[in-house]
Amino acid sequence: MSIKFVDLQKQYVTIKEEIDEAIAKVVSETAFIKGKYVEEFEEAFAEKIGAKHCIGVANGTDALFVALDAVGIGRGDDVITVANSWISTSESISLTGANPVFIDIEEDFFNIDVSKIEDKITKYTKAILPVHLYGQPAKIEEIKAICDKYDLFLIEDCAQAHFTTSNGRNAGTFGDAGTFSFYPGKNLGAYGDAGAIVTNDDRLAKNVRMFANHGQLKKHDHWMEGINSRLDGIQAAILSVKLGYIDEWNKKRNEHGKLYNELLADVEEVQTPELRDNSFHTFHLYVIRADNRDGLKAFLDMKGVETAIHYPNPLPMLQAYKHMRYKPNDFPVANYYKDRILSLPMYPELTEEEIRTVVEEIKNYYLTLRL
Ligand SMILES: *Cc1c(COP(=O)(O)O)cnc(C)c1O
Repeated sequence: MSIKFVDLQKQYVTIKEEIDEAIAKVVSETAFIKGKYVEEFEEAFAEKIGAKHCIGVANGTDALFVALDAVGIGRGDDVITVANSWISTSESISLTGANPVFIDIEEDFFNIDVSKIEDKITKYTKAILPVHLYGQPAKIEEIKAICDKYDLFLIEDCAQAHFTTSNGRNAGTFGDAGTFSFYPGKNLGAYGDAGAIVTNDDRLAKNVRMFANHGQLKKHDHWMEGINSRLDGIQAAILSVKLGYIDEWNKKRNEHGKLYNELLADVEEVQTPELRDNSFHTFHLYVIRADNRDGLKAFLDMKGVETAIHYPNPLPMLQAYKHMRYKPNDFPVANYYKDRILSLPMYPELTEEEIRTVVEEIKNYYLTLRL
């Protein structure tokens, strides 16, 4: 028996014909860079998310960097972000020349602890960059209120939160810009690298589009130096096909998350993820907190159940940020949970039987411990 952590093949076979046809079309028309397939996807994604503009870029890290740059973040600025995320979140801040200022996570929902933000705001603070981690919405309305109060930009990292909602509104549409990754393993994944920025701000959209394409307003009309970060036609065509299925896939992830929660409810050694009221958790990752995490992980591995850890170290504790001289106690919650978090298999095509098997094996592990 083997239960994969993510199985992209299972999804591909269900949409193979449409995908193959979409790719063939782009190739036969040689619409590789920009052009109609990119425009089609940008329009469809903007409309579905509820934003005025969508600008495709090469990946989710560039989406963050380009959005931060386009609102004017740069050297000497501080950007407040969260201690537990993938490194792109803080890396993109540093890439602009600004400094990431890390905030600990909340105990219940694993996102940025909003109560700790205001203490870190100084005259250098220019923006807040929250992450909707694991597909769970951050307390984005409260974060927005802080941004309004202190006149800060709000850029949402939605790489793990395609169509996650809070009070009926999609993640990515609360602030100045929302950034997305379409890395293959994300809820909406391309067949290579891809990303996008959404915004309602016409000027920001124009800046983003120019900066991501060598600062060109039109061909050979460079208003500034920019970078080369473009969504390509093949990826856009694939994403357009997959956009038609994302609601169905997210619904399945959400159901899987709830089933795991139900089945694990009576396992004392395991704390299951809580769901926020008035929100839709898209479960990019299903993350439990477990006693003897490493032992459980090794046991599941032996039983053919793949698991992962997101993330083994809080960002400020990485070698990359050693110069900031943080101590684990500066981020007590993130630091406590780093040794307890475990991501279980999660993808839409996972079956109920597989979920039950994973839970049985978790129970078996703790039974053997008790003997
Ligand atoms: C995946 C991810 C990114 C970066 O996306 P890429 O497309 O891999 O560059 C950024 N932030 C978070 C939280 C992510 O999970």
